Amino acid sequence: MSTAGERARTLGQVRDALRELVADGVDFVPRAPARAPRPAAAAPVPAPAPSFQPRVAPLAPTPLGDGARANAEALEAIRAELGDCRRCPLCEKRKNIVFGEGTPAARVVFVGEGPGEEEDKSGRPFVGRAGELLTKMIEAVGWRREDVYICNIVKCRPPGNRDPAPIEVATCEPFLHKQLHAIGPAAIVTLGKPAISALLGRTVAITRIRGGWLEWQGIPVMPTYHPAYLLRNYTRETRQAVWDDLRAVRERVEAPAS
Ligand code: URA
Repeated sequence: MSTAGERARTLGQVRDALRELVADGVDFVPRAPARAPRPAAAAPVPAPAPSFQPRVAPLAPTPLGDGARANAEALEAIRAELGDCRRCPLCEKRKNIVFGEGTPAARVVFVGEGPGEEEDKSGRPFVGRAGELLTKMIEAVGWRREDVYICNIVKCRPPGNRDPAPIEVATCEPFLHKQLHAIGPAAIVTLGKPAISALLGRTVAITRIRGGWLEWQGIPVMPTYHPAYLLRNYTRETRQAVWDDLRAVRERVEAPAS
């Protein structure tokens, strides 16, 4: 017969072991290979396959039905309205407007802060290092990048990757709002503090509110860490946090309608 104390210890150990297992599955970027003992005549050691593997089967591709075609047309109209935008100072130094990309039928829209250097060059959101990690985060929960929609609160690169100024956010905001209305996703995931602060219209502390459901105009919003923050703080805790947030989003958008 085990005592209550022993049972508690055993339960605690089981919980810790489970946490380890879960966190091990949250390795969004390839880990450094474990050191293998070197053979006497050192032949080059082949690079191991990345440890990252999507955990669940990808969603089926979304066919563009009538609703989605209407969304696509609405997005095209918003892009046309944006035109060769010169509404705020960010137009001075930008190379390309980064409008957003993904399926107009997206159930989930990811909203970042603003284009960086790579995005400015290519005109596509999240294609630099942070973008690679975002793609891995999306795949880790079983989606593909093309199944979601990705955009930013400002469509032009803030010089030197500074935070967008309030006037720049305010000027660009109507276009983000229109994009979100055109798509009508089941959930929005905001990446980092500026994105959630812009959507809520007030400055918030991301460490305090991440992981909790909020709402924007009737659409559930999950604030999580920005992938660039994750790259700078690549710890078990931050990976686990983002993993938990995205799992919660997946559960919510895929829950059968009641
Ligand atoms: N960071 C962002 O917030 N958005 C991008 O598109 C790229 C990096």
